[in-house]
Amino acid sequence: MSIQLVFLGTGSGKPMPQRNVSSMGLFRDGELFLFDCGEATQIQLTRSNLRPGAIEGIFLTHFHGDHVNGLPGLIGSLTLNRRSRPLTITGPRGLRKWFKCLHDLHILRPGFPVKLEEVREPGPVFEGEDYHIETQPLEHRVDTWGYALVEDERPGRFDVGRALELNIPSGPLYGRLQRGESVTLDDGRQIEPEDVLGASRPGLKIAYCTDTVPCPSATLLARDADLLVHEATYPAGDEKLAHQRGHSTAGDAARCAKEAGARRLVLTHISQKHMNLDEIVSGAREIFAETEVARDFATFTVERRDR
Ligand SMILES: [Zn+2]
Ligand SMILES: [Zn+2]
Repeated sequence: MSIQLVFLGTGSGKPMPQRNVSSMGLFRDGELFLFDCGEATQIQLTRSNLRPGAIEGIFLTHFHGDHVNGLPGLIGSLTLNRRSRPLTITGPRGLRKWFKCLHDLHILRPGFPVKLEEVREPGPVFEGEDYHIETQPLEHRVDTWGYALVEDERPGRFDVGRALELNIPSGPLYGRLQRGESVTLDDGRQIEPEDVLGASRPGLKIAYCTDTVPCPSATLLARDADLLVHEATYPAGDEKLAHQRGHSTAGDAARCAKEAGARRLVLTHISQKHMNLDEIVSGAREIFAETEVARDFATFTVERRDR
């Protein structure tokens, strides 16, 4: 199984024809999660290969318009699409107040249950069957939270040769051992899963850090990530300006990836004043070679590292 990231908007500030404002789809095992929902995200969705009906959760980093203005429209359209399944929306404090206001003004009347989760502390915010999504505070001009999807470790590979050596009859017992159960054979011997399984295999980790100045909690969120998505509003060298405005440069993003031991870095949230993406990415690659820059509709696939 792999995870696909689809960038629906990669610019900062205001939507532009060639670069919409922040939103990223994360597709995993039939489930779709949106991270941020800037204006026109629903239009970007119709132009992508993602199905809005597959959205399980929406995670908002902060209440700046370029990250949230698309949400009321998207929810309205999901209602018109006759969605009936619940939708979880996670975001900073104020999420409930915002929804109540939109509801009271009749702007938003979702036709399906919406579960609102306000983030108040670091840690897990969403639990899936074999993964969770966790959060860490970022440092920006307003209350801001980054997110990471972390898959559970999986049991090691089943060693058929070892099972034959131990004279374990093939069939349902193999399945039980693979699921981590110990089994007792007809001859009375007890076989433990570790007798026939290799080392457990790590799951994937995808981190999403925007908007922020460089900070220890961003590095913590990005720790050992298979792929780190990090804002790079300005090119490397513009640190003073970036930090004054609560943002990072491409160089800051690269340093975060390097310090965190991330495997890949994808830059996003590029200032609309900077249309030369080669300049953005080259400044980061000097510090962290495995850097790419996202364009709208760019897709990045992250494969499991099976041993
Ligand atoms: Zn922003
Ligand atoms: Zn912002």
